[in-house]
Amino acid sequence: MQLDRVSHASDETLEGYAMGSLGEPVLAELEEHLLVCPHCQEQLKEFDSYVAAMRNAAAGLELKDESRKEFWTRVSGALTLRRIGWAMAIAALLVLVLRCDCRGDRRGARRRQPSRWPWFS
Ligand SMILES: [Zn+2]
Repeated sequence: MQLDRVSHASDETLEGYAMGSLGEPVLAELEEHLLVCPHCQEQLKEFDSYVAAMRNAAAGLELKDESRKEFWTRVSGALTLRRIGWAMAIAALLVLVLRCDCRGDRRGARRRQPSRWPWFS
């Protein structure tokens, strides 16, 4: 790569520099050129802000992913088998109580129907 005051660094070269992936001898030549070329300095600023925005976005995604993982770890820790068993027992009891209420409403209309569960009447 030959850089002087007339020719400028390519977009790929500046992008590589911004990402930190440029190797010698191109790196040394570009840095030398950047010292004297306002045009390439301006271009590099744009690449730098682009790379910084991409890195921030990636860091934000990792953070979100991490907090989601933490949430599900907490939820699964709270839901042990025994607790699920208790929740099911309570739900079954609620169903029985609600069903009993419905039967009570119907009893007024059809009094003759014998109760299947005498302990609920
Ligand atoms: Zn230049």
